[in-house]
Amino acid sequence: MYETATASPPAAATFTLPPLPFEAGALAPVISRETIELHHGKHHRAYVDKLNELIADHENLAGLALDEVVRRTARGAKLAPVFNNAGQAWNHQFYWRSLSPEAESPSERLRRLLDRDLGGYDAFVAAFTEAATGQFGSGWAWLVLDGGKLGIETTANADSPLAHGRTPLLAVDVWEHAYYLDYQNRREEHVRAVVEKRLNWAFADQNTQQAE
Ligand code: MN
Repeated sequence: MYETATASPPAAATFTLPPLPFEAGALAPVISRETIELHHGKHHRAYVDKLNELIADHENLAGLALDEVVRRTARGAKLAPVFNNAGQAWNHQFYWRSLSPEAESPSERLRRLLDRDLGGYDAFVAAFTEAATGQFGSGWAWLVLDGGKLGIETTANADSPLAHGRTPLLAVDVWEHAYYLDYQNRREEHVRAVVEKRLNWAFADQNTQQAE
């Protein structure tokens, strides 16, 4: 009568929420602690949890790295729910690493590329801010390498340069949840502050080096 119920083991989580690479308050006042905690702890976590739930029904995706899941699910309406959550899981983990508590400057290598391909650092700040502000609705702004050349692009919703054969160097989230608590509808002000004061240029340099 005191028989122990044998609970079935919990399904193994395929993907986990990576911890933030900085303390949650470290980006203030550009991005507040409250925004970072909500964004990472609720939004990013929800994408990872949903992805794990959905991917359980796709044996052919089992055991793949997250970037590979993004690439393989980028086409076809049937896979769209997996792509949306895998894309958002990957985009967010890349976004956190694209941010720095310190105002950094581009490395010598990146300065040369910015000069050669985008008209220099100041032109980059202006063009990136304009592109990110102009992305209609939810999405992302990216600094990418495309065939060895620097480029700025935006993607809608969960889409990513990974799905189009380009190499992301830096990402800025322009979904409203990324800035609304701090800036309300002033997306441009938010993006400009992030681009001028919180981009992790060391991370971009590392990504550039790996792509060479
Ligand atoms: Mn987000």
